[in-house]
Formats: sequence, C-alpha cells, structure tokens
Amino acid sequence: MIEMMQDLLRLDSPLEMRRELGNYLGLEQPVSSAVLRRAQQDDRFALHLVMSRGSRDLVQLHLDDPRNERYAGDDDDEPHAEIVEESHDLSNLELVGGMAGAMFRWGRSGFRGLDEATAAARLETCQSCPHLVEAPDRLLYRVKMVKKSDQRVCRKCGCVAAAKVKVATERCPIGLWGPAA
Ligand code: SF4
Repeated sequence: MIEMMQDLLRLDSPLEMRRELGNYLGLEQPVSSAVLRRAQQDDRFALHLVMSRGSRDLVQLHLDDPRNERYAGDDDDEPHAEIVEESHDLSNLELVGGMAGAMFRWGRSGFRGLDEATAAARLETCQSCPHLVEAPDRLLYRVKMVKKSDQRVCRKCGCVAAAKVKVATERCPIGLWGPAA
C-alpha cells in the first residue's frame, strides 16, 4: 500500500479518511466511499490517483471511473466529490494512466530533461507512425500537461506523443526510439 493510503488508516472513521483524501486531492468534498475502498485495495489505482493531484481533470477521471462501482457499499449515499459535468469512458482513464506512468518514471529519474534535437527526432518518428492517432475525446485536450499543437496519442502506450518524446526516460513501446543515455 502506498504511503498516503497508510497515513489514512491512522484516522478514526471512514468519513475522516474520505475527507482527508479529498483534501489531499484538492477537492472541496470527501471522495466517495467506493473511491476510498478502491484506493485502499488497488495500489495501482491509488498511485495514479495520488499522482493526479494538481490536475482537476486527471483527478476527476479517477473519480468517474466506472470500475469504482465495484467497490460501492451501503454507505455510498453520503455526499462526495463531483467537480466535472462530463462523463468519461474507460479508455480515457487508461490513456491517462499511461501518461501518469510516464510522469512517475520521469520523477524517479529526477525530472531529467532532454535536448531539443533528440526530442524533435523522436517526434518525427512518431508523426510518421501508424500508431499515432487522434485522442478519443475532448477531455484530453483540457489536461494541463498537454498544451502542444499536436495532441495525438500513441495507441500502443496511451501517451500524448508530443509530451512523451520530451521525457528522457521514456521509450517507444515498439522500439522505434529508446530512452536517452
Ligand atoms: S511511441 Fe512508438 S509506437 Fe507510439 S506513436 Fe511513437 S513511434 Fe509509434
């Protein structure tokens, strides 16, 4: 279990845990009971949720994931966070999960940068690759980290190519380019 979730276990009640997790994510209301339960039981979900902190769009994707319903219980009629009007499908969450994974690897490397020539060469490869496709819906256009003119995603890894190519630690999932030395 990740450290943030272990800290929550020190609190006295599920409602306090929901409030604390909501606060941590920058929400004005507690997360739902289902989101709390899933975060406690699913380390990958918890990691991506915690890493989404700072982006309301990314956080909301996790709150809206239909798989959260599997963790619903009798107390789920309590108020919980709802900050975006749109509903989002599973494929979006998986795409963002790929981006979060890339950021995690980048963070572990100390946010090492990449020279512009290498990033440009990587992007040129992506732009001629058949796996580079349009993002599946408008939500990805609102994600803060993606403000590039080319917002297409790699369907092999779910990342926005124009952002991914600038991360030194990243690699093409089919081996067309690799991590920087
Ligand atoms: S990362 Fe690799 S597979 Fe994905 S679009 Fe770029 S070249 Fe294609």
